[in-house]
Amino acid sequence: MFNTSSRIPTARTAPGSLPVADITQALQIAHAYCQERSELLTPLRKKVLSLLLQSGRATKAYTLLDEMRKIHPGSAPPTVYRALDFLQSVELVHRIESINAFSVCHDLTHCRHGILIVCQSCGEVAEVDGPGVHHELVNKIQSTGFTLVRGELELKGFCVKCTAKTM
Ligand SMILES: [Zn+2]
Ligand SMILES: [Zn+2]
Repeated sequence: MFNTSSRIPTARTAPGSLPVADITQALQIAHAYCQERSELLTPLRKKVLSLLLQSGRATKAYTLLDEMRKIHPGSAPPTVYRALDFLQSVELVHRIESINAFSVCHDLTHCRHGILIVCQSCGEVAEVDGPGVHHELVNKIQSTGFTLVRGELELKGFCVKCTAKTM
């Protein structure tokens, strides 16, 4: 796990712009993780993951496409979307629906399907690790007769910096 520096067990904030060594390490961990699952972290998928790691926050697909085009001028949207689909399918990346963006799971290869809280202004994401809360909420949802479509729950908010800006 690459994000072991956090001392707060219940809320992990975005890794921010990681030093290059950490990104390299994160990519190595992701690579090994995919291999274990007989999945292939192709150079393209790896590049998209590394762009998300560099960004350190939820990032829109077209921003990723712009970044890709700086390296590979001919990149077409489907290539980025397919890479994002893959990264989501192996649970390395979360899709953040409220702002239509993507962010690397803060636990990278150990997602606990916690509760995501998303800054609606800058895209910073924190993952709240509360299995009890999550479980209780899912039970309550089921008691209404509904089934949750996806494992993770996403809440909207403003991060510390953006809250300070509006005050
Ligand atoms: Zn996660
Ligand atoms: Zn913010």
